[in-house]
Amino acid sequence: AKLDGRGSLQLFQQTFHDELVRQHRLAERLERAIDKRELSLHYQPQVSAVSGRIENLEALLRWTPADGPPVSPAEFIPLAERSGLIHRLGDWVMEEACRQQAAWRAAGFTESRIDINLSGRQVSRADVLERFEACLARHGLGARDIGIELTENVLITADSRILEGLRRLYHRGVRIAIDDFGTGYSSLSYLKHFPVTAIKIDRTFVRDAPGQPEDRAIMEATVFIGHRLGLEVVAEGVENEEQLTLIREMHCDLVQGYYFFRPMPAFDIERLLVGLVTT
Ligand code: C2E
Ligand code: CA
Ligand code: CA
Ligand code: CA
Repeated sequence: AKLDGRGSLQLFQQTFHDELVRQHRLAERLERAIDKRELSLHYQPQVSAVSGRIENLEALLRWTPADGPPVSPAEFIPLAERSGLIHRLGDWVMEEACRQQAAWRAAGFTESRIDINLSGRQVSRADVLERFEACLARHGLGARDIGIELTENVLITADSRILEGLRRLYHRGVRIAIDDFGTGYSSLSYLKHFPVTAIKIDRTFVRDAPGQPEDRAIMEATVFIGHRLGLEVVAEGVENEEQLTLIREMHCDLVQGYYFFRPMPAFDIERLLVGLVTT
C-alpha cells in the first residue's frame, strides 16, 4: 500500500529528528575525544609516478572512540565544521603532525614531507596560518617539512589576511596544494591568482578516466596547465593498474591511492621509511 502524504511526512520528520539527535550526541563525544586521546593521525604516502619513490605523506585524522567503532572523517569533519570544534581539532592535527615530523627528523628520516588538510571554517579564522608558522617554529621545523592542502572553495572564499598568509608561506617555500581539484567552483584562471605549488586531481576523475573520455580530457588539460604554471600535479584515489597507466601517460608527477598504500599509522610509515633508508 502507498503511504499517504501525512504518513510519509511524519516518517520524514521522525527520521530527520533522529538524525539530528544522533549528530548532536556524536558532536558531544567528539568534543571529549581530544582529552580522551581518541584521535590519531594516519599517513598516506604519495609516490613519484615515475620512480615509485615515496615523496610525500598526507596526514589524515582518525577518531576511534574508546566505546565504539571508528568514525569516518567524512562524517566528523563536517560535524566539527558546523559546531566550530574544527579549530581545536585543527590545532591538534597541526601540533601532532609537527611533533611527529620533528621526531622523524631526529630519528634521521630527512626526506619525508607531511601535508595537513585545512578545511573551510578553519581557514575562516584569520590567524590560522600564523599559528601554523608558530607551530613549525616551536618544533624546530622548516618550511619544507610540512605543507598544507586546501580545496578550491576555501581558496576562493579566503579573505585578504589569509591570502596574505598563504603568499608569505609560499615565498618561504611551504608546499601548498589545491585539494579535490575540479570539483569546486573550478576556474582555471584562479590558478594564476593563488599562491599554490601543487594541484591534486580529485579522485572522481581518476576513478572514471579509464571508461570516460571526458574525464580523461579534463585530467589531461589539468596536467597540461598545471605544468605550464610550474605546479606539481598529484592524482589521488588511484586504485588499479589501469588508472595508473593512464596517469603515467598523462605525466602526473605524484600518485596517491590504495593501489600503492592505504593511510596508515606512524609506526607502519616508519617501517617503510626504514626500508627506504637501507636500500
Ligand atoms: P581528502 O583530503 O580528499 O583525503 C583523501 C581521502 O581519500 C581520505 O579519506 C583517504 O583515505 C581516501 N583515499 C585515499 N586513497 C584512496 C583510494 O585509492 N580510493 C578511495 N576510494 N579513497 C582513497 P579519509 O581519510 O576518510 O578522509 C576524508 C576526508 O576528511 C578528507 O578528504 C578530508 O577532506 C577530511 N579530513 C581528513 N583528515 C582531516 C584533517 O586532519 N583535517 C581536516 N580539516 N580535514 C580532514
Ligand atoms: Ca586532502
Ligand atoms: Ca582530496
Ligand atoms: Ca575530499
